Amino acid sequence: MMEQYLAIKEDHPDSLLFYRMGDFYELFFNDAEVASASLNIALTKRGKHAGQDIPMCGVPVHAADGYLQKLIRNGHRVAVAEQTESPAEAKKRGYKSVVAREVVRLVTPGTITEESLLDSRSHNFLVALARVGKVYAIAWLDISTGDFSATAISMDDIGAQVSRLDPGEILMSDRWLDEAVFRELGQDWQKNLTPLPSVRFDSQSGERRLQALFDVKTLDAFGTFSRAELAACGALVDYVELTQKGKFPLIKPPTQQLSSDVMSIDAATRRNLEMTRTMTGDRQGSLLSVIDRTITGAGGRKLTGDIASPSTSPELIHRRLDMVTFFEQSDSRRERLRDILRRCPDTERALSRLSLGRGGPRDLAVIRDGLAETTNLRQALAGNGLEEPPEGIVLAGEQLGYHAELVDLLTRSLAPDLPLLTRDGGFIGKGYRADLDEFKALRDESRRHIANLQARYAAQVKVPSLKIKHNNVLGYFIEITPRFVDNMEESFIHRQTMANAVRYSTVELGELEDKISRAADRALALELTLYDELAKAVTDCGANILSAAEAMAQVDVAASHAQLAKENDYCRPLVDEGVAFDIKGGRHPVVEAALQAAAETSFVANDCNLNEDQRLWLLTGPNMAGKSTFLRQNALIAIMAQIGAYVPAASAHIGIVDRLFSRVGAADDLARGRSTFMVEMVETASILNQAGSRALVILDEIGRGTATFDGLSIAWATVENLHDVNKCRALFATHYHELTALGSKLPALSNHSMRVREWKGDVIFLHEVGEGSADRSYGIQVAKLAGLPKAVVKRAENVLEALEQKDQTSASTRLANDLPLFATVIEEVSTPNVSETVSPILEKLELISVDDLSPRDALDLLYELKELC
Ligand code: ADP
Repeated sequence: MMEQYLAIKEDHPDSLLFYRMGDFYELFFNDAEVASASLNIALTKRGKHAGQDIPMCGVPVHAADGYLQKLIRNGHRVAVAEQTESPAEAKKRGYKSVVAREVVRLVTPGTITEESLLDSRSHNFLVALARVGKVYAIAWLDISTGDFSATAISMDDIGAQVSRLDPGEILMSDRWLDEAVFRELGQDWQKNLTPLPSVRFDSQSGERRLQALFDVKTLDAFGTFSRAELAACGALVDYVELTQKGKFPLIKPPTQQLSSDVMSIDAATRRNLEMTRTMTGDRQGSLLSVIDRTITGAGGRKLTGDIASPSTSPELIHRRLDMVTFFEQSDSRRERLRDILRRCPDTERALSRLSLGRGGPRDLAVIRDGLAETTNLRQALAGNGLEEPPEGIVLAGEQLGYHAELVDLLTRSLAPDLPLLTRDGGFIGKGYRADLDEFKALRDESRRHIANLQARYAAQVKVPSLKIKHNNVLGYFIEITPRFVDNMEESFIHRQTMANAVRYSTVELGELEDKISRAADRALALELTLYDELAKAVTDCGANILSAAEAMAQVDVAASHAQLAKENDYCRPLVDEGVAFDIKGGRHPVVEAALQAAAETSFVANDCNLNEDQRLWLLTGPNMAGKSTFLRQNALIAIMAQIGAYVPAASAHIGIVDRLFSRVGAADDLARGRSTFMVEMVETASILNQAGSRALVILDEIGRGTATFDGLSIAWATVENLHDVNKCRALFATHYHELTALGSKLPALSNHSMRVREWKGDVIFLHEVGEGSADRSYGIQVAKLAGLPKAVVKRAENVLEALEQKDQTSASTRLANDLPLFATVIEEVSTPNVSETVSPILEKLELISVDDLSPRDALDLLYELKELC
């Protein structure tokens, strides 16, 4: 057995080998050590190899899914070796032969299909990167839904594309491990990498593989794919074949996505804007979690995909918006649709399990129930005679298709209560096949005969406690307690004597047993054949089922947006080819939801109009006044509009944004060995190098991580570059009030500030954006609110006063008039004269000797100090 084990293991050195032995998967040697640590299960020993104990651990087959999930999450791959013959068959081959075993599947993070291993609400993409000549391409496939696409990319875009897809596993050539591409992936994605020999990325064999898979002579009907795209697509198909050991899930023909079809958003921006996950990696608190009102798994996956890839096509966006409006206008229509969707199970994933031979009776039922609802869905999508539904709805209605025949077949064939596994039968209902019913009747009838026989024997030998029982060794047997042994007649053949029982059989019982087991065997064999037939009937309709599932997902998402709009009073945006960005009464969807949940103050809506005369807004205001919130809310509104959702605003007119950039907050990236300031500069550089006239840029607090004048200078030059070179729509929040002087020099720059009110020396944030620049930064008041010790606050006020007496503004005013930048040397501000400003409290404190104070004196002193406040 060990020989067989080692031979199989040799072929799968990178995977943990699950070696099937009866009801367990066993792991040996190093695999056992790794798995027992990762799964926190006991490590034992079994036999010896080369004089050493063999470490071993095992997991029960029925609970294997949970363990697999944990191993995959912990970054392992698993090869599952099953027994491919029964012990009886092995015996026939020879007395000592080991049951044959084969790896039937490689479980890797990008190729899992089990419901329990997948998040039902997000795609699990397998991604391949390939290069032919100087052209790079990326292809992605979700084997649990069959979605398959490719696009050509530039090397700079690899990080952005990969983070958009958020893949479970990335394939690329092992030759790239030393190359820039590998570094481009960043640490976050490098751990999901599966390097493969470069021959697997050959474009010609890729093309052949695709032609064979889709049974076509040419791929032209699917798009004009570049050689690099073919190589990437081919590598994916090849890998699926490798891991699934030749079995194929249903894969939709590849679609070619042009990078210009979607809003380009780099990895840092995605993270900063917390689009699908928060900075800490949670889904809760992200934009997605706040706007997701979808009901089905497929709807949830579609929405996740939409948010990751907002569209740049006004037609597509409006087609989606028309669908949302259709459900937004009628509460009853929307409710009806959503009620039906609540009854729709996840047909896509059930289908993929069935096509990989990994499904069960319950997957058949999922297909039946999902498809049965298409009729109701179609009715819910029909117009009411007064108005015609929009094009997208009509198309979705058609795409749902007609499945009466398959639904009828599955309804007739499946039993009402279905077992999880196919193995033991019991899933075909009564009345579907006369011969099956007959075998089952025979089996069950014979069981009744056994009960009768027991009663008869008990009376015959006068042992009322006589029982007929069954076990796997003896089969059926008669059991009595030892004191009745003498009652037994000759026809009872002795089989076994135990401490408290003696066991017998009879010829009659043997015959009956034969009859039962034959009937049961035939019933089971027939059920298994019928299962295969049903599974085939389903997979034969695979393309139609996937198309129905896609239509369901689309209407689910549209109704979700409508529901959200109704709940929160969102509006339909106008999106066109222009360069407008005119938001009236905009709100931040996530902050607003949080304020609502806490039932605190309500969110203050703000306008933002980046028209051609003022496409760059410079926003000043104290900390905590709401600058970041305002910046982010406008980026989020652009994203929401371009996925085809209603937006949190009173009105919104947005000219297509082709790239979105953000540089927000100061997230440390120490893991990559970059300081906060370095990260900030890298991100700013990428914005200034890439943002074109259709981009939307939001920049928050550039230059904070360095000395004041360095930072101010960098911020200054960045604003000028955005204005003169990038010429894009931009929001720039800053602490440096000096920058507002640029308003007089740059015609398309407009100064705005967060309004605050001072009341009795405290600051009150109004969260309103107004025209003009902030007069002060109120830093000390904010510090006071945060609970800085009173003495420190007082001292800071004195220092500030001293600083303000020096003319600090002159330098920046001069700069604004006197370019080129840095022609003038900025005056250093001298340190204030400390002795003039020492507080009387400090003076007093300085003089006391604490050890010499009595408690009474200390109390008096406190009163005195209080007087001085
Ligand atoms: P800044 O970037 O100016 O330091 P933030 O944008 O981080 O300020 O906002 C600070 C807090 O103020 C937020 O956490 C939020 O609770 C609240 N806030 C911001 N904008 C608004 C608004 N428009 N309406 C209500 N509360 C707001």
